[in-house]
Amino acid sequence: MERVYNFSPGPACLPLPVLEKAAKEMTLYGKTGMSVMELSHRSKAFLEIIQVAEKNLRSLMDIPENYKVLFLQGGASSQFAMVPLNLFKNRKADFVKTGQWAKKAIEQAKAYGSANVVASSEDKIFSYIPVLDPSEFSPDADYFHITLNNTIYGTRFTLLPDVSAPLVADASSIILSQAIDVSKFGVIYAGAQKNFGPSGLCAVVIREDLIGKALPETPIMFNYKTHADEGSLYNTPPTYSIYIANLVFEWLKDQGGVAGIQKVNEEKAALLYGFLDGSSLFKGTAEVKDRSIMNVPFVTGSEETDESFIKEATAAGLVNLKGHRTVGGMRASIYNAMPIEGVQRLVEFMKEYEAKALRGKAQS
Ligand SMILES: *Cc1c(COP(=O)(O)O)cnc(C)c1O
Repeated sequence: MERVYNFSPGPACLPLPVLEKAAKEMTLYGKTGMSVMELSHRSKAFLEIIQVAEKNLRSLMDIPENYKVLFLQGGASSQFAMVPLNLFKNRKADFVKTGQWAKKAIEQAKAYGSANVVASSEDKIFSYIPVLDPSEFSPDADYFHITLNNTIYGTRFTLLPDVSAPLVADASSIILSQAIDVSKFGVIYAGAQKNFGPSGLCAVVIREDLIGKALPETPIMFNYKTHADEGSLYNTPPTYSIYIANLVFEWLKDQGGVAGIQKVNEEKAALLYGFLDGSSLFKGTAEVKDRSIMNVPFVTGSEETDESFIKEATAAGLVNLKGHRTVGGMRASIYNAMPIEGVQRLVEFMKEYEAKALRGKAQS
């Protein structure tokens, strides 16, 4: 069987050269005589992997000196608890409710204090980024939380809110896909399985002054200071995931870094949205001005047609196009590792499907 084009929202496709390199090194890594999976996390060989991974991420994202980079476990979802546990002083934070992930972050913060929702797009199934009214912001908020890219609804913030509290962003489905000015944020966190590696690994980029002030009830493993002090080696980190993430970082450098991949990502998104905007069968569900360039949800308006489209696309090697149950229809996730050829194939397939559907209609 051939490799397919995998449009999954996550775990998502990885660059083929990364998988091939990992396969080549699977049983024997460098001069260690063993696999990366079998290396001690305290070994010289693994220390080099994690240090180079940090160095690469710092250079790719242009992370300022006064920020720590942490490689943690527990996915992005653990950050929904870690952020309030570490940043709460007044036990109050502001949130923009732009989707399911934002809702989960809000729900979790409420366990430790109050979560003030300053704006929401729930009225229209999160199909847009709401306009923010600064008079709704809490003057004593410990942080201001946004989901930079809404994986399920295909929207993204193009303008960052102008806030005085540290800005915290869930960047799981946007990290490394476009330039982000790290200096505008207090904390940026992202699960690896969307854009830079296998699941189970979460990267946290945090301004140093926000570390070391956790609430007293904070579990040791949930305290940023624990991991910052130990270079993410307080306990056994997800070693193999960090190794793969670093291979992705190396691959990204070969693509011209974030600036290089951003150009390709914009081209891919323009191709797909360009077709959707002119299509008489398919229609994008997110508001044009807020469209994500990573996740593209679309519908035909008929559940039956959506289902038949997904089935035929799957048979053609275009897989995991089913949309989230709250939106229905389809969603094409076109992260960094999705080559432009995959998007071209998808658009070609949609064109053919549309032409066939129109012929069918004309005959009936
Ligand atoms: C996938 C995703 C998450 C959850 O990540 P886990 O690693 O499964 O915890 C959180 N936020 C966003 C925006 C996501 O896309």
